[in-house]
Amino acid sequence: MAQAKEPSFRQSVDLMFNRAVALMDLPPGLEEKIRVCNATYIVRFGVRLRGRIQTFVGYRSVHSEHMEPVKGGIRYAMGVNQDEVEALAALMTYKCALVEAPFGGSKGGLCMDPRQYDEHELEMITRRFAYELAKRDLIHPSQNVPAPDMGTSEREMAWIADQYSRMNTTDINARACVTGKPLHGGGIAGRVEATGRGVQYALREYFRHPEDVARSGLSGTLEGKRVIVQGLGNVGYHAAKFLSEEDGAKIIAIIERDGALVDEGGLDVEAVRHWLSTHGGVSGYPNAMHVPEGEKLLEHECDILIPAALEGVINLGNAERIKAPLIIEAANGPLTAGADEILRQKGAVIIPDMYANAGGVTVSYFEWVKNLSHIRFGRLQRRQEEARHQLLVDELERLSADSGIGWSLSPGFKQKYLRGADELELVRSGLDDTMRAAYQSMREVWHGREDVEDLRVAAYMVSIDRVAKSYQAKGL
Ligand code: NAD
Repeated sequence: MAQAKEPSFRQSVDLMFNRAVALMDLPPGLEEKIRVCNATYIVRFGVRLRGRIQTFVGYRSVHSEHMEPVKGGIRYAMGVNQDEVEALAALMTYKCALVEAPFGGSKGGLCMDPRQYDEHELEMITRRFAYELAKRDLIHPSQNVPAPDMGTSEREMAWIADQYSRMNTTDINARACVTGKPLHGGGIAGRVEATGRGVQYALREYFRHPEDVARSGLSGTLEGKRVIVQGLGNVGYHAAKFLSEEDGAKIIAIIERDGALVDEGGLDVEAVRHWLSTHGGVSGYPNAMHVPEGEKLLEHECDILIPAALEGVINLGNAERIKAPLIIEAANGPLTAGADEILRQKGAVIIPDMYANAGGVTVSYFEWVKNLSHIRFGRLQRRQEEARHQLLVDELERLSADSGIGWSLSPGFKQKYLRGADELELVRSGLDDTMRAAYQSMREVWHGREDVEDLRVAAYMVSIDRVAKSYQAKGL
């Protein structure tokens, strides 16, 4: 557990922000304007459940409106409070700026444990919460666009979209009021996997730079790297799955609420996920060792540690004992400011949350654009692209036959080359490009200035600079 002198999540984010602005030259007052959270709305509403009225407390915080709409997930968890929602909203501002998604930062949450309610009850609660937010334009295609976060998924987003549509029957862009919707409810291919996919792309980009890899004391590629993941939810599951199936990394431990599973030979991520979803926990899983004190596994030897559950899990209480040389923050705020400092002094490289988990908001941006343009990506171009490729292949084959050279294109190449990209491929390509470009922008600052020690400060500097320029361009 965190010790008493640990700052709150919001204070932690501010401390990290302060480290960055100390190295920048912002006009007086602007620094404060960027740091503060513009507004936080707190709503208490009742829902009749199981024969009695239950009161819920919900939040929607808007950190910065330098660009609109503002964007950020809605979380259902017992720990939701104003401090947490404001910290997460601030992170959204910096994250969107870093990956050049044209949004301000926002975040919302309901203080409750979704596992205590059945589907029908959750629908009633979600619709009521959506109603409360939508009537104040805190859900709105051009003002404030939520997305899934901890404890919510595309199911809740579909209810929110439908609730908004019922309240705004003539709004042709109603579907753009929320992202992370199911594909058949106005969603986009690749959104569910996006945050975990982004973690994979971030690590791939990091490992493209041997100089950067050397700073963590590691070498080589992702192949064979020993990885520990905390939280096998949406983000952790997809990151673990892609890294193990596509990059040859070994998932040696998975930490969940009820303990950790350990297998030095590499866990079968699909099998663990299946066990978790059918049994509600990881204990009892037959093919790995179960350690009841799961959090201890954060301190286990590994190459890459991926905290993908919740904030503050690496804190002053355990930071000294963390052995991972490379930590990628798939969750928001998994390291407190104090832990961050200890780990930096120990020489660990930390790939910061605002970059590492930006895949979600990036693909949410694509979904929002898709909703506003009312057409699937690739729908106009795909067959035309295929026809042009076919022309080239036909011509090459004709030339080969006419000249008597006799070579032919391999069927595998032809199949790959001839196929026009569908929406999923376009989304992955856009996400990959975004993650590479954002890494480059952080890297330039990290390597370019002697007073910049780490990727987090570099990320904040890039983001704050962009937000500042946007405010300055507007004349505030
Ligand atoms: P989720 O609810 O799908 O999964 C969270 C997982 O963590 C669950 O499997 C849960 O059992 C586990 N967990 C909860 N408490 C734990 C604990 N104390 N120890 C170990 N495991 C625990 O949530 P998610 O959407 O995967 O989000 C996880 C993190 O990623 C959050 O910090 C969230 O803000 C961040 N994030 C999510 C997205 C997204 O697109 N979903 C985008 C950006 C950032």
